[in-house]
Amino acid sequence: MKKKPKIAICGFNLESNRFAPTCAESDFRENMFFVGREISNEARKDSPAIHLGVKGFFSEMNKLFGHDDWIDVPTMVIGSCPAGPVEEEFFNEFLEQLRLKLLAAGPLDGVYICQHGAAVATHTHDPDGIMFDLIRRVVGDETPIVTTLDLHANISDLMTSAVDVLVGYRTNPHVDMFDRGVEAASVLKEMLDGMQPEKYTIRLPLVAPSVTQLTAEGFPYGDLIRYGQKFLDEDIFNVTILSGFAFGDTPKNGMTIIVHSRSTIENARLVAEKLAVSAWTDRTRYVPKMTSLEQAVGLAQQAQQSAEETPFLFADPADNPGGGGRGNTTYILEAFIAAGIKNCVFSVFYDVAAVELACKSGVNSEIEITLNSQETNEYSKQLKVKARVVSLHSGKFRGHYGMVAGTTADTGKTAVLDLGGITIICISKRQQCRSSDFISAFGLDASSFSSIVVKSRGHFRAGFSHLFSDDQIIEVDVPGLTSPNLSNFKWSYLPRPVYPLDNDTSWDLD
Ligand SMILES: [Zn+2]
Repeated sequence: MKKKPKIAICGFNLESNRFAPTCAESDFRENMFFVGREISNEARKDSPAIHLGVKGFFSEMNKLFGHDDWIDVPTMVIGSCPAGPVEEEFFNEFLEQLRLKLLAAGPLDGVYICQHGAAVATHTHDPDGIMFDLIRRVVGDETPIVTTLDLHANISDLMTSAVDVLVGYRTNPHVDMFDRGVEAASVLKEMLDGMQPEKYTIRLPLVAPSVTQLTAEGFPYGDLIRYGQKFLDEDIFNVTILSGFAFGDTPKNGMTIIVHSRSTIENARLVAEKLAVSAWTDRTRYVPKMTSLEQAVGLAQQAQQSAEETPFLFADPADNPGGGGRGNTTYILEAFIAAGIKNCVFSVFYDVAAVELACKSGVNSEIEITLNSQETNEYSKQLKVKARVVSLHSGKFRGHYGMVAGTTADTGKTAVLDLGGITIICISKRQQCRSSDFISAFGLDASSFSSIVVKSRGHFRAGFSHLFSDDQIIEVDVPGLTSPNLSNFKWSYLPRPVYPLDNDTSWDLD
């Protein structure tokens, strides 16, 4: 009888914004923290709270091997909402737990890592690389290791050398996490059957501002990814192009192209070079074009004139919790209140103290609230408002659209407040609004508003595409921890020169 392959599953998911407050164990515990059997149990649920990559991996492994004919060794899969650098002590503790669990499993036949890939720690630029290297040292050189990565990953040489295959997402908003987990399983199966992959990596001095990284038709990054997929054939089995995450501010920042071949590094190199030249030639398309706050106010005024007017969805990419933003800056809110904007909803606004006050006061009460009363970040200014408490919620709901479709979302205790024409949904678990579910779950009809404001860079798009076309989506240029305007930041570690921050950046194939 054929031996059942024993496969470890692990993952550490954090996108670190160098400028945001540090990230502690509690941030992971609040978001995603699965240990041992909990991982396999959660991955089998219909609407799991675990990363969909893990669900995809399990589902494909069961298909390829049969449910009982592979042995899963679930170790640790954890993830935080994007935040600042992870604290050294907690990260090292995580690594030690992971190491012990891998060792306790005995000889392994393969490892699947469900990783984000853009973490920074308080003591190192490359916690992802350190983790990959640790796994490699535990399992030895011959054991296949496959990882999935968010396309915002910043890739180090240590990451590519420690792992055999790096499968990056190909969609932004990320709606292919499940599919990439499936792909990781199928690559692992091939390697167990004897395939020995080769890969070639090129990093470009190109740090794409967040709003230019969409993968829909007409966006440069999407065009590049689709071009890359044309090279897939019997030999080239994966083309990964990671646009990276600027706010990590690390020496390893820069769009990274990784091409995997079933036969030779030379074949992978030829494809990687073609893609790198194409990306570089296209670089001016990565310069963001945003709308001023003044213009945004004008559009909101126009939208509220009558029901016949086109509604708009205003995005605040500079305060995107999905990139480490606090989800609570008040630039747009203050301007909209001052301009008398009506029939507008802000979904969602992170303010634990405001939610608590609303809960204490009760539904239908009239209260005065100072937003951001407990917040210390320089961009999160306080704002006094009068509000009526419309409704209170536990914050747990099932998603139907975009990235939360088929999953359970949890905004923590949530309060819907009416500021006199502007509705604001206050949450107590920091995250971005990823779909219209973040409005409808709280008893509101997303299609009834003439303007909607979301603190998100782009993930909301998949979850609002049934209500808004691209030309109804307005990216507003206001300050914040995740502003696409890269010249707003004092960079310490980005390799310079880098495009589009430095216009005179040059690059050539060696
Ligand atoms: Zn991402």
